[in-house]
Amino acid sequence: MNKILKRSFVLFAIIFAFSAGILLYYFSLAVNGGDWATYPANKHIYSNGILTKAGQITDRNGTVLAETKDEKRVYNKNADIRKATVHAVGDLNGFVATGMHSAYLKELCGFDPINGVYNVSGEGNNIELTLDSSVSVTAYKALGSRAGTVGVYNYKTGEIICMVSTPTFDPASGDTPSGKGVYVNRLLSGVYAPGSIFKLVTALSAMENLSNVENMQFSCRQGVTIAGEWLSCLGNHGKIGLDGALVHSCNAFFAQTALELGRKRLTATAEKVGFNKTLEMDGIKCAESKYVVSKSNDIDFGWSGIGQHNDLVNPFQYLTFMGGIANEGKSITPYVVKKITTSGGSTVKKASKSTNRLMDEEQAKALTEMMRNNVKKNYGDWRFSGLEVCGKTGTAEVGDKSTPHSWFVGFCNNPDTPYAFTVIVENAGAGNGAATAIASTVLKQTRKISFD
Ligand SMILES: [Zn+2]
Repeated sequence: MNKILKRSFVLFAIIFAFSAGILLYYFSLAVNGGDWATYPANKHIYSNGILTKAGQITDRNGTVLAETKDEKRVYNKNADIRKATVHAVGDLNGFVATGMHSAYLKELCGFDPINGVYNVSGEGNNIELTLDSSVSVTAYKALGSRAGTVGVYNYKTGEIICMVSTPTFDPASGDTPSGKGVYVNRLLSGVYAPGSIFKLVTALSAMENLSNVENMQFSCRQGVTIAGEWLSCLGNHGKIGLDGALVHSCNAFFAQTALELGRKRLTATAEKVGFNKTLEMDGIKCAESKYVVSKSNDIDFGWSGIGQHNDLVNPFQYLTFMGGIANEGKSITPYVVKKITTSGGSTVKKASKSTNRLMDEEQAKALTEMMRNNVKKNYGDWRFSGLEVCGKTGTAEVGDKSTPHSWFVGFCNNPDTPYAFTVIVENAGAGNGAATAIASTVLKQTRKISFD
């Protein structure tokens, strides 16, 4: 009797352990199943560690960017298209973390926790991107041999048209170039000193907080003394108000405006438009824009109000900020994954529009008018042939000896081309030069895009 009891206890223990094991197995499959199934040791979808079985990746016009043919993963035949879209499509080694081949690998392989690796059809899912490959190629060629990024998105729908990052590489060549950050998607993962593009944040904060903003004036004598130290300006602007100060990008005006606002209020505005938080694009985490002045002294705080000191900007965050100004204060979150479908055509996932109010309609309209003025009076409206471009340039100092980075951010205030953009060109000099020229080339192409 005792023996039987003992045996049944052992049996019970075995059954218990077995059930628990199965439960644990199912639990970990539900949690990590996608990772396990897409782990490079899984021969069903990988061959020699290279992804072979997965669905198609297409751009907004149905141009195939990557697909599986005869058990092989192949890219578009055009090398310029491959290089211009690799930071969105990804490489087969998974080095480009923001590419679909990495960030959306489970979806691409059609992983299903019940059926195993593949969905019912036995093939992967297809991913339709919002990108326009020909606009992307234009941006890639315009950047040329320089490092930088061009981001363009439809601020009414959220669709990203162009997400080009240079230096780039050809994912079909099989090479694994090292150095220069070729795998980095500079739009999502880069951060740069903003220079004068930050004056838009200071201007917005002034409109939010200072009741006399319309009549407010400060003096510029080729700069201004703050707490006994000199903060220089490129011009000698005399007494100047907000509108003129933005057109002439007067450092003295915006540094004094920052001091008038104080650290707390300027930080609050910066955070409202996306600083000091991790933004996401389709669940892919972006690098954080930073505005931290709580411990800065007055002269450093003054410099921070004009985008110097320790300010850092992620180009994607600025893209959403520009979209917010363009769309009357409401920023539609940009996305690149338009639709995921099974090979049979049923929808797995569809992009949904999410909106974030960054500022009041009145403030957005005032900034739009000022940014339109910048282009008309300073950067040259002729460059943008009727696109009604509103913008702000920036020149980001990067140490004493290097040539500064060149920024141009803004949008078209035009229902036919509702696009916001950020352009940064590394070590290319003043923003009103390299970056405005690239924006002009790329934006002219957006006329050809059809959208819903
Ligand atoms: Zn000035």
